[in-house]
Amino acid sequence: MPQRTPTEPDARRRIPRTDTLLAAPQFVAAAEQSGIDAVKSAIRRAQGAARAGRIAPEAVAAEALADLTTRHARPTTLRRVVNATGVVLHTNLGRATLSPGAREAMTLAGGYCDVEFDLADGRRARRGRGTLQALAERLPERTGALVVNNGAAALALVAATLAVSAGRPEIVVSRGELVEIGDGFRIPELLESVGARLVDVGTTNRTHLRDYEAGIGPATGVVLKVHPSNFRVSGFTSSVPIARLAPLCAERALPLVSDIGSGLLAPDPLLPHEPDATTTLADGAAIVTASCDKLLGGPQGGLVLGDPDTVERVRRHPLARAMRVDKTTLAALEASLRSPTPTHQALHADADALRERAERLAAAVGSDPACAGLAVQVVRSDGAVGGGCAPEVPLPGWAVRVPDRLAGPLRTGRGHADDEVPAVVGRLGDGALLLDVRCVTDSEIPLVARAVAAACRAES
Ligand SMILES: *Cc1c(COP(=O)(O)O)cnc(C)c1O
Repeated sequence: MPQRTPTEPDARRRIPRTDTLLAAPQFVAAAEQSGIDAVKSAIRRAQGAARAGRIAPEAVAAEALADLTTRHARPTTLRRVVNATGVVLHTNLGRATLSPGAREAMTLAGGYCDVEFDLADGRRARRGRGTLQALAERLPERTGALVVNNGAAALALVAATLAVSAGRPEIVVSRGELVEIGDGFRIPELLESVGARLVDVGTTNRTHLRDYEAGIGPATGVVLKVHPSNFRVSGFTSSVPIARLAPLCAERALPLVSDIGSGLLAPDPLLPHEPDATTTLADGAAIVTASCDKLLGGPQGGLVLGDPDTVERVRRHPLARAMRVDKTTLAALEASLRSPTPTHQALHADADALRERAERLAAAVGSDPACAGLAVQVVRSDGAVGGGCAPEVPLPGWAVRVPDRLAGPLRTGRGHADDEVPAVVGRLGDGALLLDVRCVTDSEIPLVARAVAAACRAES
C-alpha cells in the first residue's frame, strides 16, 4: 500500500470538517450516547490520523465512530463471566442471573419511567405498583407485600417495627436457628443492631413448644422462625413447625415472623426441605421475609410478605425509606415474577439435555485446531443449588473435562486478542477442570469453545 504524503494539499482538502460530521445522523446519535465532547475528540483524533496519512480522508467518519464504540464498549470494570461451576446461585458471581426480559426491563427503567406516576391522570401513583401486582398474583389472596434492598433489610425492618418501635424489644427464637449466613453475616447480630433483644429458647438440636411458651414474656414483640438455609441438623433433633407455633402466638396477639431466606413463593418438589412463602403464610405466619436473588431468581432485593395491616405498619417505619429499592430493581423483579427465571431453568434442567449440551461443547472444542491433542471428555457432574440453599440436594448433570492448567487462562481471559471472549469459571476437581454446562446457556456454548481455544493458544 503506497504511503500517503501527509502534506498533500488535495488529501487535506478532502478531510471532512468537524461541523459537517457533527450534523450527520450517526454523529448526532453518538453525541446523545457519549456526549458532544467525546464525539468532538474522536473526530479530531480521526482527522489527525488522516492529516498524518495513517488513514484516507474518506475513512475519517468511520474511524471516529469506531473509536467512540470502543471507548463506549466498557462502561464498567465488571467483567462478564460464564458460570461453568454448576453452582446455580453462585454468591461470588452475583447469585441469581437475570432473564433477558428482566435485563430489558432494567434498561427501560434506567431512563425516566412511570414508576411513581399515573400517565392517565398525570398524578403521583403508588411506587412499583406493577411489581406488587405481580407478587400478589403469585401469592394467596390478601397478602400484603413490601420490597426492600435485601433479605437482611427485610428482617431488620420487621424487627425494628414489630419489636423495637412497638416498645416490646424482645424476639423469641430457637437457639438452633441463630445462624450465620455467610461472610460473617449473623442473624442475631443483625437483629441486635436495630435494638432488639434476643431471647433464645431450647437447645441447638431440640426446641419444643414449651420452650417458646417459657420464653414469651411482657417484653416480647415477635416470635421468630429462621430457616437454617445453609446447613442441616440431623439425628436427635426437633423443632416446632409454624403451624404449631401459630396458635400460641395468636392467643397472645404476638406476630409470628418467619425468615424463609430463599424466596420460594410456592413449594418446589425438587427442594423438599426449602420452606416457601405460600405454605408458611397458610400455616399461620403473620409475616414472611425472604431474598429476591436466591431461589426466586430475581435481582437483589428483600420481601416482607403477609398480613396487609402488619405489612403496612412495616412500610410506614422511617427505616423503610432507607431500605427502599431502585426503579431498575422493581422492573427486574416484576419481569422475574412474570416469566420463568434462568435460576428455575438451571435447577430443573433435564439431565439428557445437559448431556447433549456438554457433547456440543466438547465437539466445538475438539474441532478447533488450537485445541488439537487436548484431552477433552464428557463426564457426569453434580451441580449444586448454592447461595446457602438446599445444601443436601445434589443436581446430577454433565460437564466437559479439560486439563486443570486451563483454569487460570480461562478465568483471566489472558491472551485473548478478542474482547468478545468472556471469563469462564469452571470447577476444579480430581486434577482436572470441569466445565459444568448446567448454568451455561446454549448461546454461550460457542463462546466457551472459543475461550478454551484462546486459552490453548495462550499456552502454546
Ligand atoms: C440469605 C438469607 C438471609 C439474607 O438475605 P440477603 O438477601 O442475602 O440479605 C437471611 N436469612 C436467611 C435464612 C437467608 O437464607
